Amino acid sequence: MQGLSLRVRGIVQGVGFRPFVFQLAERHGLAGWVRSTSSQVEIEVEGSGEALAGFLRDLRECAPPPTRIDEIESEDRPASGYGSFEIVEGHFDPGWQSIPPDTATCDACLEETLDPSDRRHRYPFTTCAHCGPRFTIVQELPCDRSRTTMACFEMCEDCRSEYEDPRGRRFHAQAIACPACGPRVWLQWPNGEPVEGDPIDACAALLAGGRIAALKGLGGFQLACDATDAEAVERLRTGKQVYGEPFAVMVPDLDWARRLCEVTPAEIEALKSHERPIVLLRRRPGGGVAEQVAPGSNTLGLMLPQTPLDHLLLRGFDGPLVMTGGNLGEAPIADGNREASERLSATADVFLFHNRDIYARYGASVVRVMGDTAVPIRKARGCAPTPLQLPLSAAQDILAVGGRKKSTFCMVKGSQAVVGPHIGNLENLETLEQYEASLKLFARLLELEPGIIAHDMHPDYPSTHLAHEYPAPSALRVVVQHHHAHVVSAMAEHGVRDPVIGVAYDGTGYGTDGAIWGGEILVADWKSFQRAAHLRYAPLLGGEAAIQKPYRMATGYIWSLCAACEVDFEEYLGRIPIGERILLRRQFETEVNTPPTSSCGRLFDAAAALLGLSTEALYEGQPAVELEAAADPAVDVVYPYDILRDGEGWIIDPAATLRALWCELRAGRPIPTIAAAFHNTVADFTRNVCVAVREKYGLKKVVLSGGCFQNALLTRRILDGLSDDGFEVLTHRVVPPNDGGISLGQAVVAYALTEGI
Ligand code: ZN
Ligand code: ZN
Ligand code: FE
Repeated sequence: MQGLSLRVRGIVQGVGFRPFVFQLAERHGLAGWVRSTSSQVEIEVEGSGEALAGFLRDLRECAPPPTRIDEIESEDRPASGYGSFEIVEGHFDPGWQSIPPDTATCDACLEETLDPSDRRHRYPFTTCAHCGPRFTIVQELPCDRSRTTMACFEMCEDCRSEYEDPRGRRFHAQAIACPACGPRVWLQWPNGEPVEGDPIDACAALLAGGRIAALKGLGGFQLACDATDAEAVERLRTGKQVYGEPFAVMVPDLDWARRLCEVTPAEIEALKSHERPIVLLRRRPGGGVAEQVAPGSNTLGLMLPQTPLDHLLLRGFDGPLVMTGGNLGEAPIADGNREASERLSATADVFLFHNRDIYARYGASVVRVMGDTAVPIRKARGCAPTPLQLPLSAAQDILAVGGRKKSTFCMVKGSQAVVGPHIGNLENLETLEQYEASLKLFARLLELEPGIIAHDMHPDYPSTHLAHEYPAPSALRVVVQHHHAHVVSAMAEHGVRDPVIGVAYDGTGYGTDGAIWGGEILVADWKSFQRAAHLRYAPLLGGEAAIQKPYRMATGYIWSLCAACEVDFEEYLGRIPIGERILLRRQFETEVNTPPTSSCGRLFDAAAALLGLSTEALYEGQPAVELEAAADPAVDVVYPYDILRDGEGWIIDPAATLRALWCELRAGRPIPTIAAAFHNTVADFTRNVCVAVREKYGLKKVVLSGGCFQNALLTRRILDGLSDDGFEVLTHRVVPPNDGGISLGQAVVAYALTEGI
């Protein structure tokens, strides 16, 4: 007889891990106990050496998702003669606790839901310890039914016996429910009158008839319509007041996904993962989805059903459904029945309600597979909060408030970091309120008492104001430059602390010189950075307005960088109405509301505008999406550019690139070729600058961060180029490359600056 004492860390709380350990111990004939503590699960087991080895192996290899084991600490100890194996009462310290995310319906629960002889047949709230709602219903930690929005549903006899059975799948499954005791759904017209028949089937039938439905989902309301019905999609766009941005589509199963899009094995994995994100896929021509779903794009955001309700609805409908957040414009998603009725009744023809409250609301998560890596674009429902183990130990709690448009916050306690959910554009007042509410919830759940609060360098970001107003007067406020935060976010997720070359290509970020940065190559560690190279400044004519009107960006480039060859662009400039041209020229000359920018995103805008792809950007980054969609990846042409010496560093001048692009267009070269050559050129100058930086600083490691790395073609080209040149290249896998990731970088920079390393 031998004994083992184990400590397991990772995502092991609220995910059915203890019953899994219990069953494993019984299977291997071991005695002992398992219990949860705030930060880990502790196990003592004893038995024969062989049984212990088998137990340990299965523990590592067989834990069902969403369990994620990051670390097992194991220690031999003498056997103390336990008679059996037991799950014992947890032990929770105040302070750090993990917050389990919501998880897609598991296969076993789906089977029950579809089995006519099962007591949960067609029950839309079927869950077990391994699947179902968690974070959206938790009010307090540790996660216990009495502290969730399930508290008001008294368990029936049958559910209680499942809840108490450590050999079953529902032992301590906090959201356990059945038709006899749990929440229920109903379908009603906007005037409150009930719709006859089975609510889910009736809803599917109405959708098939071209109606728009508001559905109460896991993290808030969603608006749905038939994705093949152009008229319904158009009506949804008008109602939701969202014009260019693509809608996501939910399909019943993988066969449907394959019918609509080309999917690689890595993309199938992403679709099937228990986070159930929207996966951006290459659209198959003639798949039948209406053009209005994702106008101008060759990709489609697909997802598989996440909840039993989704499964039942999609099976009833048997086709692709547009599934988009139940909000209008940029407002947050509605989460209450009454709120949804009030806000959505002009858009939705019918409401599918249920009576389980949503405590924390979330939109959908989005990933894009690049090579074999699923790169997060937006982390919300199913994959936030994101827990992360950092190679540091903070003496004080740290709060980092993130950016502006794709805002998240990050909280650090000791060596643990948690990145909160994607919330949205803080310039929308209601979104800001939601951000504050979410921040408050996390701070309460994690008992955060920040001694350090990190924020962006931009003086007017709503998050910057929030950092100053946060009720911790004695906390140290630390300013972090936007692109430094980007680069360090990528370093932190890879556990890298030594200096790297950081390529930060994105939309906008406030620079130390007051200019708008965004095409930056930094030499950075956690504490500081040097701007080794950047894109040459071009005027952002009219400030933010230039983002919505990409031709303004092209004009700014022509007048500044391409002034010597302006005559070549006469035809282009001639297309801009004379009145606006005069106004722009005045802005250019007086520099009123026209900051200089080195943004790589804006360079993509200018290129797309010159090619005539986007006259108006309905959302930031749309021109780049269209430029990537247009590009023929087989083309390997590179256009000219200049790299200029600038004191200690380099300036990348893309004037020759834009001129070549424009001349090629006029010479009749096809747009797919030009669009690809433009991508290749950006990759080429990136590689050359990195080589120069390597020679000067002796650094071989490059991290890629910033919103431009949502562009798969650009990412692949840069990655391939740098790898060919012998660089070790690190990209994002845990937090998004866009501004959704910078809160993590801010927290780590603030730690390095205040506590030193
Ligand atoms: Zn389940
Ligand atoms: Zn029940
Ligand atoms: Fe950014």
